[in-house]
Amino acid sequence: MSKTWRAIAAVAVSLIPLLISSVDPGQAAGTRKVAKAKPRAFTPEKCEPRKFRIIVDVGHTPDSYGALSARNDPEFGFNFRLATLVTAKLKSEGFAATRLLVTDGKARPSLFKRVGAANDGRADLFLSIHHDSVPDKLLETWEFDGAHSYFSDRFSGHSLFVSRQNPHFATSLMLARMIGRQLKEQGLHYASQYTMPVMGRYRRQLLDKDVGVYRYDGLVVLSRTRSAAVLLEAGSIINRDEEMTMNSSERQETIAGAVAAAVGEFCEKR
Ligand SMILES: [Zn+2]
Repeated sequence: MSKTWRAIAAVAVSLIPLLISSVDPGQAAGTRKVAKAKPRAFTPEKCEPRKFRIIVDVGHTPDSYGALSARNDPEFGFNFRLATLVTAKLKSEGFAATRLLVTDGKARPSLFKRVGAANDGRADLFLSIHHDSVPDKLLETWEFDGAHSYFSDRFSGHSLFVSRQNPHFATSLMLARMIGRQLKEQGLHYASQYTMPVMGRYRRQLLDKDVGVYRYDGLVVLSRTRSAAVLLEAGSIINRDEEMTMNSSERQETIAGAVAAAVGEFCEKR
């Protein structure tokens, strides 16, 4: 192959992800062939809830548990309980292929394990469940249960994150908006502090100011997954009141119901 042809071929190959990025999740492999063989309009397959492979990822691991709540409970436990409930709710609404993903080990390797599990399992959708805290500089001290503890009551609310580096950014954003809309309809508010200078390196671009969807390109689980991917910070556990609320089965049911309703709507629109 001549140098010129090699350059043309390289450009052609580099365009393939652009073509793929405008289609729906789970279709990348099939589309790749179509894109190579003959360019034509992509017709998405209908979403069949029973076969739709959703991975509900429990943020962090038992060893690397994420944030510590105002009452010194690890974030991992909050994530595990809510993600388990979201999985059960999705299954009960007909999404039988939904899988709960629990990862072990250290923080950084665990991120790549998650992405590997999602990509190897040809997931159609990746949803990561977390609970929020604040940057260290905002922490205040109090005593809880005889122990020196940290809290910040300044911020509360949930937030949703998507990555522009995900090959299905537009689809991810669509789902995040649907989840945000459902949460809003339940009377819940989103965490608006991510646009504030006080957030420092945690500051993010707000993509949807109505329902609280932020852009977070660098997140491994959002940028490296080949399916559409959304991360939900369900609420703040460093806020003393909201921690109690997040512990209540009522709030957990509300959030799980909102997520399941959004995924149902998402599936119908495909
Ligand atoms: Zn987290």
